[in-house]
Amino acid sequence: MLDIHNEMTDHKDMRDLTIIGGGPTGIFAAVQCGMNNISCRIIESMSQLGGQLAALYPEKHIYDVAGFPEVPAISLVESLWKQAERYQPDIVLGETVARYRKLDDGTFETETNTGAIYRSRALLIAAGLGAFEPRTLPQLGDISHMVGSSVFYAVKSVNDFRDRNVVIVGGGDSALDWTVGLLNTARSVTLVHRGHEFQGHGKTAHEVLDAREEGKLAVHLDTEVRSIDVDGNALKRLHLRSRSGSETSVDAERLLILIGFKSNLGPLAGWDLELCENALVVDTHMKTSVDGLYAAGDIAWYPGKLKIIQTGLSEATMAVRHSLSYIKPGEKIRTVFSSVRMSKENKTS
Ligand SMILES: Cc1cc2nc3c(=O)[nH]c(=O)nc-3n(C[C@H](O)[C@H](O)[C@H](O)COP(=O)(O)OP(=O)(O)OC[C@H]3O[C@@H](n4cnc5c(N)ncnc54)[C@H](O)[C@@H]3O)c2cc1C
Repeated sequence: MLDIHNEMTDHKDMRDLTIIGGGPTGIFAAVQCGMNNISCRIIESMSQLGGQLAALYPEKHIYDVAGFPEVPAISLVESLWKQAERYQPDIVLGETVARYRKLDDGTFETETNTGAIYRSRALLIAAGLGAFEPRTLPQLGDISHMVGSSVFYAVKSVNDFRDRNVVIVGGGDSALDWTVGLLNTARSVTLVHRGHEFQGHGKTAHEVLDAREEGKLAVHLDTEVRSIDVDGNALKRLHLRSRSGSETSVDAERLLILIGFKSNLGPLAGWDLELCENALVVDTHMKTSVDGLYAAGDIAWYPGKLKIIQTGLSEATMAVRHSLSYIKPGEKIRTVFSSVRMSKENKTS
């Protein structure tokens, strides 16, 4: 995972462009902003950048991005970030954009689920399939009040699990990684997976099974969490039921649910923008039906659209270039090749 944190600068100041979504399209849009001398911020609902690549298939290899014969998805995200980082875009993680407002002077306010309002001269929606949110265990009812104290959907600090009885739910890479990763921190680790075998990386799966052989952790396959015992907001026990119907209980102070993400177009669907096939209709300049509001990547639709990384990168380039005439009205916009621009900058620096 990329080690990027929200910084203490006041992100709410006016920026030229606010980019909604930190997938490959959003990150590359930030590169293009840097290349075109405009300021930007990315607002991303997840706690990490990378969109589908980071959330859904970090370990899978990608074979159809120009210049990369074969690259693990997470490495492509890291390379994109390396390219963007030199321009120091503002990054806001863990906030979901709920609504936007276009002001009389043509600028935009973007409000997130935390109530924060971010101002910019133009807006680029690079929201992919929608905001990602972790999958939950609906059979446990409303446990939202326990999230961050007893129940977790991600590990932000291993100290949350230190010397605790921890139950991890899931069978993919994240669940396996943290099962191994918390062994030396937690008092006990129990892994519960409803499948018969793990989907995660073979090497880590072997590490988990070896640790079980050595008596360092417990593993329940073909098993689901049925219910929990709580004392106030504190988790006490989990009740499990296997596919064969046998029931058991385990002491648990921390429940770490790592069963993937689901995406939700959510508020974007109600923004009164023209939609087609659950995506935003754009013109040949990647502009939506609202002046100053652009879309690129999986969220953008036009006849013949292909939802792949490469088109998103190209659309990000077009959207940023075309937004310049909105952001800097009346200014002559010149196209300067990066090779020419960078060699000039390198000479003067
Ligand atoms: C399993 C799998 C394998 C794939 N393999 C390939 C491949 O080999 N080659 C290829 O080219 N493509 C592949 N794709 C498709 C590729 O991943 C997508 O085309 C690409 O991720 C689109 O990038 P994006 O930035 O437009 O959107 P996304 O990657 O979806 O990123 C959008 C981001 O916006 C955020 N967001 C959404 N709404 C909000 C909001 N309201 N507020 C804040 N943040 C928000 C989301 O949380 C997300 O992080 C694959 C897809 C899958 C699922």
